[in-house]
Amino acid sequence: MAERPLTLMAVHAHPDDEATSTGGVLARYAAEGITTVLVTCTDGRCGDGPGGVKPGDPGHDPAAVVAMRQAELEASCAVLKVSHLETLGYADSGMMGWPTNDQPGAFWTTPVAEAAGRLAELIRQYRPDVVVTYDENGFYGHPDHIQAHRITMAAVEQTDIPAKVYWTTVPRTAFEQFGQIMKELGVDWAEPDATAEPQPLLGLPDDEITTWVDTNSYGGQKFDALATHASQTENIFFLQLGRERFTELMGVETFVRVQDRTGAPTPEDDLFAGLR
Ligand SMILES: [Zn+2]
Repeated sequence: MAERPLTLMAVHAHPDDEATSTGGVLARYAAEGITTVLVTCTDGRCGDGPGGVKPGDPGHDPAAVVAMRQAELEASCAVLKVSHLETLGYADSGMMGWPTNDQPGAFWTTPVAEAAGRLAELIRQYRPDVVVTYDENGFYGHPDHIQAHRITMAAVEQTDIPAKVYWTTVPRTAFEQFGQIMKELGVDWAEPDATAEPQPLLGLPDDEITTWVDTNSYGGQKFDALATHASQTENIFFLQLGRERFTELMGVETFVRVQDRTGAPTPEDDLFAGLR
């Protein structure tokens, strides 16, 4: 019936988020002949600069960081065989509370309606069957991730085009497994500090996760995509695992289905269940 191939759109905050949280599904669905569209909302200017220079430190040149991260993003898309890369080009807002939150052009202070309008145009252009973004906390509270969530949900509502909408998540059991492996590897892994202020729990209990996609066969591609973003310290941390261990840990990507017109039963193992 379908004249056009099925289409997946992933909406992410920064260059590198496409690899860490959806590298497996982007690679897998591209291999299955599905059109994949990546929308990256910010330019990543608050990331580490060449040579690991931190934002705010002398020698951190936002323009150079933006250029480097754009090249990394394009390399990552080539690895993941992303069909279409769209960048909205907002300024990376930095972590919550940074002065960059309010700089001109910062994504965080851009009106939701404005950015959602631009995303809605892309949704009308590509007509994705499935849209993936973050939950309302942006998974871990980064302002740009929260804003990506907000504009995506607004654009989906305006267009009413996607049959299914998902938020990325991580099973809480995976964090335990992760800490264990880091300990075995002797990697300096920050144990949760019992005296610190209580943080909102990340991830979800297994029984609240609707969708578990096996991306083990694409673990190498996901690793290589992340490796294109090796300028960022937090990625080096994951790359230390090595390809095999990385795949073992990251070989299943998990989601919560928040909108659905297919009626496919959950739990499901495919973002396109009910659509093919
Ligand atoms: Zn990010």
